[in-house]
Amino acid sequence: MGNSDLYLFFEKQLSEWPLAAANYKKLEQVRTKDIQFNGFSFKVLYNPARAISSFAKLDPAAIATRPCFLCKKNRPDEQTSINYRDKYDILLNPYPICPIHFVVAAKNHEEQYIAGRFDEFTELAQLFPDFVVLFNGAKAGASAPDHFHFQLANKSFFQHDIDAPMPGLIKKDSFKSIDSIAVQKWLQDYFTEFNEANANIFCEYENGKWSATVFPRIKHRPNQFFTGEILISPGAIDMTGNLIVAREEDFAKINKEVLTDILNQISGRR
Ligand SMILES: [Zn+2]
Repeated sequence: MGNSDLYLFFEKQLSEWPLAAANYKKLEQVRTKDIQFNGFSFKVLYNPARAISSFAKLDPAAIATRPCFLCKKNRPDEQTSINYRDKYDILLNPYPICPIHFVVAAKNHEEQYIAGRFDEFTELAQLFPDFVVLFNGAKAGASAPDHFHFQLANKSFFQHDIDAPMPGLIKKDSFKSIDSIAVQKWLQDYFTEFNEANANIFCEYENGKWSATVFPRIKHRPNQFFTGEILISPGAIDMTGNLIVAREEDFAKINKEVLTDILNQISGRR
């Protein structure tokens, strides 16, 4: 399996699934603005199709009563999959953030814990080097904290290297190695000391080398979410310098001061 399988699958799904095709088309019209921090440019993207995820209720009662959209029995008929290791289904994300966006969902309805899955994490990065593999902790942006899933996002979407430092803005820790086992060990050690539920994690592979990056999180949603002032739900992709907003009024409200306040609330260790 490799990049070309994903590209073919992507085209096939778009031709069979009008809702997904329409949402990928809409992505071409996403409005953006850049906010500058000492040479680091942070992009804000107005993407109304993300409302379904950004505004989702994530309390245990709401999660328990909604049909799980990653379980096969609840998926739309048009949504097909690629089998991976007989353990996961690679699915097209019908509500994309990036121009090519997949979800790698466990075949079973199991909770969002990455411990014990670092082998798959590094292998997916190597199989699909045009994509980053990412994981949202259960309390750090996962919209299905009850059903295990990785995501694959096309690398060309990202304006900065994921492991590039963002001093004073966003906390992150990275590790690079030509040895996938060393990367797995680094991640295991990291999460003996920090709760993975409060982390966004990336793995990517290029020129024989893996790179893993962890974004530790203080909280998932900023205070502004709970007062209704700004409805955002930052996950892994937001932490790389691409903040997704789903309401036009929020897009207008976010300036350097507001963004600094939001990042201070969500990035770092408790
Ligand atoms: Zn499920």
